[in-house]
Amino acid sequence: MRDQFGRTIDYMRVSVTDRCNLRCVYCMPAEGVPSVPHQQILSFDEIVRICRIGAELGIRRIKLTGGEPLVRRGFPKLLGMLKGISDIEQVTLTTNGTLLKEQIDELVSNGLDAVNVSIDTLDPDRYRQITRGGSVEKALEGLDVAAGVPGLSVKVNCVPLKDTADEEYIRLALLAKEGKADVRFIEMMPIGVGKNFAGQDREQIRTVLEKIYGKAKTYTGRIGNGPAEYVQFPGFMKHVGFISAVSHQFCGCCNRVRLTSEGYLKPCLQYGGGTDLRALLRSGAGDEEIREAMEKTICAKPAHHLFGEGGHTEEILETKGMSKIGG
Ligand code: SAM
Ligand code: SF4
Repeated sequence: MRDQFGRTIDYMRVSVTDRCNLRCVYCMPAEGVPSVPHQQILSFDEIVRICRIGAELGIRRIKLTGGEPLVRRGFPKLLGMLKGISDIEQVTLTTNGTLLKEQIDELVSNGLDAVNVSIDTLDPDRYRQITRGGSVEKALEGLDVAAGVPGLSVKVNCVPLKDTADEEYIRLALLAKEGKADVRFIEMMPIGVGKNFAGQDREQIRTVLEKIYGKAKTYTGRIGNGPAEYVQFPGFMKHVGFISAVSHQFCGCCNRVRLTSEGYLKPCLQYGGGTDLRALLRSGAGDEEIREAMEKTICAKPAHHLFGEGGHTEEILETKGMSKIGG
């Protein structure tokens, strides 16, 4: 369907849990997020019902995220249930990769179309520091098994920090050179604890990479469903991409809405609130009523985010962190 500004909304990011087995410094506080009782989290049937109604409204692709989606028990089964919805063309996953090795077979047999693995650094000590205790070896094992699945699209996501060394970009980009995965550098967004961290300028990263790998060309082909801008370095088997929501706003062609694990449908990640679909579902609302609520929310999607802008009242902004919203 189209929103009030004529944008086609066909992509829904669905957070299946706000729990995580890591504690990335820019995403979660050290103590983790307060645990939400299981009953407050949407059940698989509730998620599927919302996605089915979403499909009737024109949603075609679903990204499963969190928190860490792979910590939710039975997750591959949910993926299979979503793949079974007619008109849903793709179900993809964003994960930190540390539990991917154990689950990849079941994920693939349930129809996983693509996976993004978040790895901010290949340096074991720095990874441990950023994730507060995680093992980059586990994440890389996950990446390797995913990259070994024929036909599965695999991307690596890195959120560079201000103090990330140039060497880190060079090593991560090697994954694209060798054909393991497209590698994307995602600009830090001032959301939740992310507000306390400065990111790295994408021009700076590109300059570092061009010194080593040669002049990059803009890639005009289509990769995935998102706003990444890709470049191709000479001799690379895969691409390097940049997602820069703050410095290079792409709201004019935004195609997405978000469903939080507690059942809020959010038209934009930076705005607070959303429509409480869980309350509707659990009050016995029929499909028509839920469809109308979703349609209204999607239609009213704001024109753009307000990162870096003043002149608005803070009350309209989201106070939850990325792991809660479903980054
Ligand atoms: N746990 C999974 C993972 O790490 O991929 C899925 C959820 S995580 C919130 C999704 C993505 O959001 C990760 O790539 C993470 O690095 C990114 N992220 C978290 N906080 C962010 C922030 N403040 N700005 C930009 N990206 C952020
Ligand atoms: Fe967990 Fe992903 Fe947030 Fe890291 S970025 S704390 S892995 S949800």
